[in-house]
Amino acid sequence: MDTKDQLICIYRTLNRTFGPLHWWPGDTPFEVAVGAILTQNTNWANVEKSIARIKARGALDPFILFALDDADLQELIRPSGYYRVKARRLKAFLSVLCEGFRGDLAAMLSGDLLESRRRLLDIPGIGEETADSILLYAGGRPVFVVDAYTRRILDRHGMLRERRSYGDVQRLFMDVLPADADLYNQYHALFVETGKKFCRKKPQCGRCPLREMPGGIFPGTPGIREVTGRQPCSSGKKCSKRGSRKNATRSS
Ligand code: SF4
Repeated sequence: MDTKDQLICIYRTLNRTFGPLHWWPGDTPFEVAVGAILTQNTNWANVEKSIARIKARGALDPFILFALDDADLQELIRPSGYYRVKARRLKAFLSVLCEGFRGDLAAMLSGDLLESRRRLLDIPGIGEETADSILLYAGGRPVFVVDAYTRRILDRHGMLRERRSYGDVQRLFMDVLPADADLYNQYHALFVETGKKFCRKKPQCGRCPLREMPGGIFPGTPGIREVTGRQPCSSGKKCSKRGSRKNATRSS
């Protein structure tokens, strides 16, 4: 099974298990972008508290948020942790958005994808995962988000090998899957769901939907190859009777 088949097989298996996950939470693209910055190094529940405080203040608007003084902004986002650092990052992002694009986030995230990405990466404190989350979830741009869960799952199934950088892992997906924002959105959400429920620091392979994937050889979970001598699924002929590979990978 080559990399493409493995990635398709993982997607099909997880998608069958979890169904459409409708990521990312947020009423507007701007809320999604703010959430992507606030979620660095904290859990989502804390981000929700901060966003609720911003909304209660009537400040979930690029210009209003940008106009807040630093102490005010820090206080609003305090539940997200690292609030001084995150306030600086948010202000830097808002500076580009308000002064460079008149508060028009769609314009900021549109145009050439590499240029849009570079624009975000040039903002202090915005790294690749945050930039790609904003592009994908707020901008609907087809860019794959790589997070710690993605790395852990692929690594445990022997798929990372020498691929260690963010870009290496991202290319693994973007080189073989269609450039489809809906597919990338759902695939990332499926990894997060699997990571939170099963692929924790101590893996729960026995209950995990990927337990029969090659490489998932943890105690009590022989890969299906060891049991039956065949692959758990392939990209077209054996995995599913439900249709073509193209249909399967776009079924979210
Ligand atoms: S089978 Fe085990 S190693 Fe593989 S994703 Fe599930 S929990 Fe992680």
